[in-house]
Amino acid sequence: MTRQTVCRRCGTCCRKGGPALHDEDLELLRDGDLVYQDLLTIRKDEPAYSPLTDQVEPVTKELVKISGQGQSWTCRFYDPAHSSCTIHSHRPLECRLLKCWDTNDIMGVIGKNTITRLDIIGETDPMAAWIYEHEKKCPYRKANSLLEALSSSPHPSPLLTELTAIIREDLAIRTRAVAQFHLSLPLELFYFGRPVFQVIRVEGLNFFEKQGEIHVDYVNRA
Ligand code: SF4
Repeated sequence: MTRQTVCRRCGTCCRKGGPALHDEDLELLRDGDLVYQDLLTIRKDEPAYSPLTDQVEPVTKELVKISGQGQSWTCRFYDPAHSSCTIHSHRPLECRLLKCWDTNDIMGVIGKNTITRLDIIGETDPMAAWIYEHEKKCPYRKANSLLEALSSSPHPSPLLTELTAIIREDLAIRTRAVAQFHLSLPLELFYFGRPVFQVIRVEGLNFFEKQGEIHVDYVNRA
């Protein structure tokens, strides 16, 4: 069998999700090859797919990725009709290094010199204060520890109350920012990442809306 040495344009890597951005990719943003609406933030401790472990697990630091297409993780720049990248000559570092038949180069940069929202917008951007407030009031570290405690607690009510408060605060901050800055959904996802209630997935945990507010209930199925 002939050993693969070139990209066969099967699209598998682009369907797994857009790349995380690194220092080297700031130039793409400065030159307008990428705009904020192309990006999705994965907040620190947010559960996300790790190419290093091939598992979904909390990320150890904030990442900014190229966002997906609709509800799918397929990179927004992947053109399935032509099995091609629509920004090929301006694709980010990870895409330039990725060779599915030899992952040494890509694995060498995963998680290194990645950039954050503040690296992109700068501390003087009015949204910086919103990002800090959001991180302070709705940290995934706290949500994760509540979820872990829930699974083994015989008294889940206080934990659910705390979790509900984080989920509501997350939505409240977004709602205020969207109203004040007229943010589109892609911009909201760049500035604040995905809503917490859409990210956390634990068996037995249910979200529902009642009288205009989100509620959480939990049935321990262990
Ligand atoms: S930027 Fe291009 S090469 Fe990189 S994942 Fe997206 S479609 Fe694929």
